[in-house]
Amino acid sequence: MAKIAILSCKKIKDITCVSCIKCFKAMQAREGEFARYKDEELDVVAMGDCGDCPGLAMPKLALISDVAKQYGRDFDTVHLGTCIVKATTTAACPINIDRLKEMIEKKMNKKVVVGTHNY
Ligand code: SF4
Ligand code: SF4
Repeated sequence: MAKIAILSCKKIKDITCVSCIKCFKAMQAREGEFARYKDEELDVVAMGDCGDCPGLAMPKLALISDVAKQYGRDFDTVHLGTCIVKATTTAACPINIDRLKEMIEKKMNKKVVVGTHNY
């Protein structure tokens, strides 16, 4: 079973991406970056956000991981939401996706997938 956490853009989550319906649809249909789990059960352990600041993304994710462990629900893979990808590529979000991915992989020993849905 794949155990994942999703990190989203706080400015987009539940504002223009209402209630994360797009990611939930893609997860259910195993579309977009969730197609990789088509033959697997998917356990969505956490859906958090960047904390509204590029400097908070790592600490926020570390906190999510600590709390998940506290409840016996650790995750293996982090998806950086399509919202973060859009914020960094079509707007002025200063997060460096490649650097964030590398830091999560090295410091937290988690797999990282860039993106979620394609809608
Ligand atoms: S730092 Fe980037 S990802 Fe986070 S809220 Fe701001 S624009 Fe969105
Ligand atoms: S891309 Fe996914 S995680 Fe990000 S705000 Fe939209 S539905 Fe939520």
